[in-house]
Amino acid sequence: MVAEFGCHIQPIIGAVRTIYAIVGDERDELMINRLEGLGYVERVDRIQSPFKLMDRRSDLATHRIKIGGATLGEQLFVIAGQCTIDPNNPQFFIETAEAVKEAGANVLRGGVWKPRTNPYTFQGDVKSLDILMEASRRTGLPVDAEVMDETQVQLALDAGVHMLQIGARNALNYSLLRAIGRAVAERDTVILLKRSLHMGPISEFISAAEYVVAFGNPSVILCPRGTSPTLDGYRYHPDESVTPLLKEKTWAPVVVDPSHSVGKAAYVQACALAAIAYGADGFCIEAHVAPSQGIGDDPKQAITPEVLADTIAQAKQIWALRHPARAD
Ligand code: PEP
Ligand code: MN
Repeated sequence: MVAEFGCHIQPIIGAVRTIYAIVGDERDELMINRLEGLGYVERVDRIQSPFKLMDRRSDLATHRIKIGGATLGEQLFVIAGQCTIDPNNPQFFIETAEAVKEAGANVLRGGVWKPRTNPYTFQGDVKSLDILMEASRRTGLPVDAEVMDETQVQLALDAGVHMLQIGARNALNYSLLRAIGRAVAERDTVILLKRSLHMGPISEFISAAEYVVAFGNPSVILCPRGTSPTLDGYRYHPDESVTPLLKEKTWAPVVVDPSHSVGKAAYVQACALAAIAYGADGFCIEAHVAPSQGIGDDPKQAITPEVLADTIAQAKQIWALRHPARAD
């Protein structure tokens, strides 16, 4: 059967088990599925990487993502800002933008459209796109916003959004991943791909990034943000610990989102620092000048700019320990 896929079999006969080495390009999913379906096959181990572009040994391994005056991997990289922009209180977002810049953020985040569990809660507002871009102009910071469909992708790109966020709920939406890959193909837009709540093996996360990169824009950042099941007391199961696994398999930068992982402002700093200790290139944090007056996730999980500044200062120390030759 493997001959159909241009491969041949080399048996390795042991005392109790026989291993069949498949020689040739063994990445064809259909061949793997057929082999896995054979009753006498205990397991199929892949030698070749299923991702051609995201693999650490691919030609893209030397690609460096530059945004907001930072080159990922060369210094601590910080995305910070509100979960949700309140279109009725734009002054909060402008103040937050200025404050996170002052605290040392490289990119400003702000939710324009929001993926909400409950259809009756605030879903975001396209008017917030103008507020986002106004904050970008005032601070000089590039901006990051989540997009959930192709119309939003186009609106965000037309407005000049520098970083498109693919949220945890859409990280498994392959047609959207493809559409975003196509839309950013000729641009220097950066993609922040969250880890889905329901992803299985780490290769599933990297393969989702492969969908985007396959269209020609290699600037994809992987963002672990907590998964299911939840850890009692936290919003999700914090997953900054997958960073070394990602680093082993892919060249892509890893920027952890501690805010959604733990879901409570009081725990965010510890999670952010742990991410840097695990080798992440940075973090994406929800911050607000007045969290209690925010909307979306901000009242419960946004930290203040003061805590953000302290988190960045501590993270830089951990960064310096991990990168002794490159400390800034
Ligand atoms: C967010 O960043 O505000 C958000 C909704 O993120 P996630 O997709 O990780 O839930
Ligand atoms: Mn949020």
